[in-house]
Amino acid sequence: MKKTKIDWADSSWNPVSGCLHGCEYCYARGIANRFGGYNIDPVGESTFICEKIDGTKVAMLTHQLSKIDKSGNVHVAPYPYRFMPTFHQYRLGEPAKWTTPRTIFVCSMADLFGDWVPYEWIQKVFEACKAAPQHRYLFLTKNPDRYINLAKQGLLPMEENFWYGSSTPTMDYKFFWCTGANTFVSIEPILEPFTDLLDDSIAAVKRCGWIIVGAETGNRKEKVIPKKSWIMELKKTAAECGVPIFMKESLREIMGDDFIRQYPWGDRT
Ligand code: SF4
Repeated sequence: MKKTKIDWADSSWNPVSGCLHGCEYCYARGIANRFGGYNIDPVGESTFICEKIDGTKVAMLTHQLSKIDKSGNVHVAPYPYRFMPTFHQYRLGEPAKWTTPRTIFVCSMADLFGDWVPYEWIQKVFEACKAAPQHRYLFLTKNPDRYINLAKQGLLPMEENFWYGSSTPTMDYKFFWCTGANTFVSIEPILEPFTDLLDDSIAAVKRCGWIIVGAETGNRKEKVIPKKSWIMELKKTAAECGVPIFMKESLREIMGDDFIRQYPWGDRT
C-alpha cells in the first residue's frame, strides 16, 4: 500500500495489476512497463502460475519478486509481468496492517472488474477489504456490467465503506446502480460537452453518489483540452441533483475560482 498521487483517495492498493482494455490515454500501462520486469525470484518459478482463461494470459503470484539494478541494488518488482493481469496474493493482508483509517483506491493499476479477471481474485480482494473495515474502499471499472452480474448473483458486497465507481470519458453510458450500494462516476478525461448528453445524464446524475471529473493529462497528440463551460454545466447539474462533485487537479487552472472539491462523506477523511 502506498501514498497515491491520485488526488481523490489517500492511498492506492494493488492486489491485482494489469489491464486489457487498451485505452489510448492509459497512465498505468506506461508505469507498469517502465517499472516492470524482475530478475530475482526468491522462491522459484513453480510458485506462480500463468494460465489461459478464455485465451487470456494471467499470472498469480504468491510471493514478492525483486529486481537487481545495474549498480547491484535489489528493489521490489511491483509489476513483474508488466501490464499482464496479475494477482499479487501476497498483498492481500496489507490493509489489515494499516491501522489509520484511509480512503483507498483499490487496483489503481488494473481493472479489477475486467471480464478477464477470475471471480476468485475479486472475491479474495473483497474479503481482504472486509477484514480491514477501518478503511473506505473505492473500486473503479470501465466494465460496470461485471458489477451488475455480480450483484445479480448476490456476490457484490453492499458494505457501507465500499464505493463502486464507473469510469467513463462521457456520461453516454449504461449506469449501474444496485439498491443499497454506494456508487460514483469518474469522468476522466472529459472529452466532450456535458450538454450533448444532458437528458440521459441528468437521470444518471440523480442516482449517483459522487462525480469525479478531470481533464486529459499527458502529451498525447490529439489531447482534448476541456472548455470551462463543459465543467460548469456538470457542476450546475450536480448541484441541482444534490450530488457532490470533485474536480481533479488537471482542472484547477481551467476552472479558476470555480474549482471545487466535494466528498460524499463530508471531508477528506
Ligand atoms: S481501463 Fe484504466 S488501466 Fe485499463 S487500459 Fe484503460 S486507463 Fe489503463
